[in-house]
Amino acid sequence: MKTPIPDYLNEVLSTLREDTTGATASYIPELAEANPDLFALAVTTGTGSTYSAGDVDTEFSIQSISKPFAYAAAIMDRGIDRVLESIGVEPSGEAFNELSLEGGTHRPKNPMINAGAIATHGLLVGERADPEARVARTLSMFSQLAGRELRIDESVCASELATADRNLATAHMLRSYGILTSDPHEVVAGYTRQCSILVTVADLSMMAATLANGGVQPRTHERVIDTDVARQVMAVMATAGMYDGAGDWLTRVGIPAKSGVAGGLVGVLPDQVGIGGFSPRLDEHGNSQRARRAFERLSADMGLHLFAPSHGRLEVVGVQRESSREVFTLQGNVQFTAAAELLDLMADSTSLSEVHVDMSRVHSFTDVARRMTLEGLRRLRMDGRRIFINDPLQSLANPDLGDGTYPERS
Ligand code: GLU
Repeated sequence: MKTPIPDYLNEVLSTLREDTTGATASYIPELAEANPDLFALAVTTGTGSTYSAGDVDTEFSIQSISKPFAYAAAIMDRGIDRVLESIGVEPSGEAFNELSLEGGTHRPKNPMINAGAIATHGLLVGERADPEARVARTLSMFSQLAGRELRIDESVCASELATADRNLATAHMLRSYGILTSDPHEVVAGYTRQCSILVTVADLSMMAATLANGGVQPRTHERVIDTDVARQVMAVMATAGMYDGAGDWLTRVGIPAKSGVAGGLVGVLPDQVGIGGFSPRLDEHGNSQRARRAFERLSADMGLHLFAPSHGRLEVVGVQRESSREVFTLQGNVQFTAAAELLDLMADSTSLSEVHVDMSRVHSFTDVARRMTLEGLRRLRMDGRRIFINDPLQSLANPDLGDGTYPERS
């Protein structure tokens, strides 16, 4: 059998493809020219499995999605106290390019608006750092997060720099208040290069999965971000990531997220998954219309909401193969990640005639994990296998195998 997760992601893409509302970003000429029909989605679990669908090989500039990750770098380079001196953590409720400075301190309200992100870039590496070193810091950290060497799209960068009047005005204003200590032109040029780093949806989902893991890259097992810094970044994404729509987004969808004006969207659910989406047409808030709707679907279908009870995360999956049977074991509170692992194990399944699933030590299933497990059993049944379960708590509820039969008792 094949794991059903990519099929599900493809189904989400095909229902949303007909939505052609919105428009590509008009204020950056290179982005205005992007193919508006591109659409892709990727989910990476805390154990490093990536599932993706759509235009997964398309690279696009990261734009504002760079902001939370650069914020993480700045805190690691300068310490949280120094960063908080220059940039606040309050939602601004305003558009991304509003100045939104706090009265009194003149700090930008948060690092997700442009003013805060420009100040963040100016803090990278050290007080009198070389401008190139700041760009190099973001490029190497984002590459570590993605688990591959990323590069900068110089033509997107040049195109944005040619029309960067508003960001330059913002940087000059920050300098006049002493928030920025370096040359405003150099900082805007560096920030714009940071925004021009090219990524795919799989890169975004991997970067977010690293945050979800508290800073450890799920595939290389490298600690890229300190745990307390990852927590700070996720909290700011939750409250300020979606600009003027942040409150509506957090309550309804509940996936701390950050969008970019090239059409990217990244989402993170602590301890569970990182999600990447991409489609270039933007809604009135500057968020990708289709990627936003895809995240809404994932939240609704999979119960992926920050405040959905997850009952802790003690979950264990295993497989044993013996004579004519294959025994899959599930244990603990099973949610998306464990169910995805189970499906991967089932996809590698041999052709032994009996498939047993031992759920005797399962405390609970989230709804999506239950449906995923059942779908795996259905697919194995379609391959002609005999299905047995040991499910004393009847956690799988009504395990119809799709052909009118039910699993036998293990
Ligand atoms: N580089 C873009 C800017 O500074 C990023 C904006 C965004 O992605 O929302 O305007």
